[in-house]
Amino acid sequence: MAVMNENYCNLKESYLFSQIAAKVAAFVANNPDKKVIRMGIGDVTLPLAPAVVDAMKKAVEEMGVKETFRGYGPEQGYDFLHEALVRYYKEHGVELATDEIFISDGAKSDCGNITDIFNNANTILVPDPVYPVYVDTNIMCGRNIVYINGTPENNFLPMPDDSIKADVVYLCSPNNPTGAAYTKEQLEAWVAYALKNDAVILYDAAYESFVVDPAIPRSIYVVEGAKECAIELCSLSKTAGFTGTRCGYTVVPKALKRKAGNGQEMSLNKMWLRRQTTKFNGVPYIIQRGAEAVFSEQGQKECQEMLEFYRENAKIMMNTLTKKGIKFYGGVHSPYIWLQCPNGMGSWEFFDYLLEKLAIVGTPGAGFGKMGEGYLRLTAFGSREGTIEAMERIEKNL
Ligand code: PLP
Repeated sequence: MAVMNENYCNLKESYLFSQIAAKVAAFVANNPDKKVIRMGIGDVTLPLAPAVVDAMKKAVEEMGVKETFRGYGPEQGYDFLHEALVRYYKEHGVELATDEIFISDGAKSDCGNITDIFNNANTILVPDPVYPVYVDTNIMCGRNIVYINGTPENNFLPMPDDSIKADVVYLCSPNNPTGAAYTKEQLEAWVAYALKNDAVILYDAAYESFVVDPAIPRSIYVVEGAKECAIELCSLSKTAGFTGTRCGYTVVPKALKRKAGNGQEMSLNKMWLRRQTTKFNGVPYIIQRGAEAVFSEQGQKECQEMLEFYRENAKIMMNTLTKKGIKFYGGVHSPYIWLQCPNGMGSWEFFDYLLEKLAIVGTPGAGFGKMGEGYLRLTAFGSREGTIEAMERIEKNL
């Protein structure tokens, strides 16, 4: 008799995006004349950069010729992409070796897959509110999860203290959903916590490319000691419009070592290599050539233009919210704006209000954790016209 993983019984049904979709569909059906502006889902809208498309076309051609055809590639990614990433990190003040970088089909997969190399007895620390994948992937393995609260008082950047007992710490900066980004001093405090407690930080840097202030870290490895306590997960989804193309990377430094349940010292880099070579067969060559082009001079120029476009949308949104006296977070180093629902409204109440009265779709903050209640997330990933029109509606009617 097959016995199933009972931890799945402990997962909360994820109603967030299906509930939003159902409400929007009902509204559209009842109001066919109204133009709905969608600022809810965190997906990009601009197409891939021309340099990326050219590189992928060239790779497709290579695949169609006997001499240049490629079959299975290295599970951990091709060296040409490792080398491009080593250069990219170096530009941001971080020295890595090519075999410390593992290419993946995106940060979501690796956020979940990385749980494989940790013992289930670990206590997991998760900031609230945050990207829900950290919680659900750990519930699936039956782990004890403790939360640290993001609040207006800490600017939604919770900090460690001695009362926290955790073995694995998830940090997301710039944060989804709040858009808040840790300073170097704040990350130093987290690294000090992890080193003191032999904990491991899982640092999600999926939005690093949105950081505009050079003093704000784009990688946790700018902090001394981070290579002894942190794994960094990153993605080309938002940096280069790869949400549908799928490519990310995970950095597991060779200096990162911890004991296994039997007391044996383990290299996390070796464990992750073993995990990936056993359970993963690599990202397609064509996609990796496209990813390599993101880090070329032309690719960087084109991707920066895309990022600038989204940043301009965020500025338009922030101007309107400031004018209206609505309190918000994020928007500067992030495509997300996390706003306090006006007049003490709850997340869903304000979601309904925005949809019914202004035909604007946001994401209720409560969907990202209990501390998200009373907040709503808007994204800057929309079109310029849609963003301007949504802000005009807010300015006139909210
Ligand atoms: N991490 C965070 C914080 C995200 O918000 C997302 C996607 O929205 C991901 C990871 C997943 O990225 P990917 O598309 O690379 O799987």
